[in-house]
Amino acid sequence: MSRRTMQTAEYAVTATAAGSLRVGGMIPLTTIDYPGELAAVIFCQGCPWRCGYCHNTRLQPPRTEAPIGWDQVTAFLAQRRGLLDAVVFSGGEPTLQSGLAQAMVQVRKMGFKVGLHTAGIYPERLARVLPFTDWVGLDIKALPEDYPAITGMPGSGEAAWESLYRVLATDVALEVRTTVVPEMEAQLSALQSRLARAGVQRHRLQPVRSPSIP
Ligand code: SF4
Repeated sequence: MSRRTMQTAEYAVTATAAGSLRVGGMIPLTTIDYPGELAAVIFCQGCPWRCGYCHNTRLQPPRTEAPIGWDQVTAFLAQRRGLLDAVVFSGGEPTLQSGLAQAMVQVRKMGFKVGLHTAGIYPERLARVLPFTDWVGLDIKALPEDYPAITGMPGSGEAAWESLYRVLATDVALEVRTTVVPEMEAQLSALQSRLARAGVQRHRLQPVRSPSIP
């Protein structure tokens, strides 16, 4: 039995833990959040960072007054079998939540590919869910030393770059995304060089977005 199969079996036993996932919003259909696939996006509630350009500040608090129940999410997905290719867990920061792995396993069992948007805040937790992930969109916001000015958190750059190395060490498909704000344009070419040296093959620059939760 492969390592991935063993871990999937292990998490299948505790699949009900997926019900603890705090979901703050959902997009039922998108063509831009998982390259080449029709996907739904599940916005996981909670993020410990405070980026000045955050486009989903409503998802920063760990809890919301109007959560979407996991049973509502799975009921929706059950109706979309054969119509959607993938489900993307986004945020907030999905790896903040202990129910993420089980939710991913459940989604995979329903026949969908699993995508993950993450800022790489928790490298260890990210590494634990990679066996259940088909594609990662990882925010690398800047060079490690420039992170605190963006996120407001000391050590955030080291965490994000450690997450990058963790994903690169696997065969999970990866797209690195960088939000370009005027203050960091001078560091952009140094960032691109360091990402290329690290082995990143797909790096997308994106403008600051307006709020995306429906
Ligand atoms: S890491 Fe992402 S969700 Fe968290 S504050 Fe920054 S932009 Fe917002």
